[in-house]
Amino acid sequence: MFKLLTVPNPKLRIEAEPVDDFGPETIALIDGAIELMYAQEGAGLAAPQFGVHKKFFVMDIPESREDEKSQLQVFINPEIISQSEEQVVLTEGCLSVPGVSAEVTRSKEIRVRYLDRDFKSRERDFFGWQARCILHEYDHLVGKLYVDHLPPMKRKMLLKESARYQREQNQENQANES
Ligand SMILES: [Zn+2]
Repeated sequence: MFKLLTVPNPKLRIEAEPVDDFGPETIALIDGAIELMYAQEGAGLAAPQFGVHKKFFVMDIPESREDEKSQLQVFINPEIISQSEEQVVLTEGCLSVPGVSAEVTRSKEIRVRYLDRDFKSRERDFFGWQARCILHEYDHLVGKLYVDHLPPMKRKMLLKESARYQREQNQENQANES
């Protein structure tokens, strides 16, 4: 299985390259991303989060709260072609910034052009948590993290908190191993 990268790994800050291989190699990477996302109990995961600098991410978020079934979607070479002026504040967390979360303001609705899991071209509007997750994952493809949207002091504090959380987790894991 792929290994999840966490802050301050500099690989999280590299802009990804467009996907240009539409064969088994890319399919294997996508399957690996899906496996890692579910293993980490995440709602979304972008390729750079496991050190692959290709422009794709996976997401599994229901359209509404009542909807419980899986809504797995794959976004290859996504482009955000429009964003609503209306913005919303939602709490974001990130598998690569473990142990913390923060309120982030972003557009409420977006229109995205992308290739789906079958490499079929699509253009669709998204809103709510799906729009939020897409904007968050899209950031990963250009080397950005959600904390970059916060005031510098707040960002610094969160990254410090996440570092401490990661240290504690490592100590716990080592204690369990010995
Ligand atoms: Zn993230």
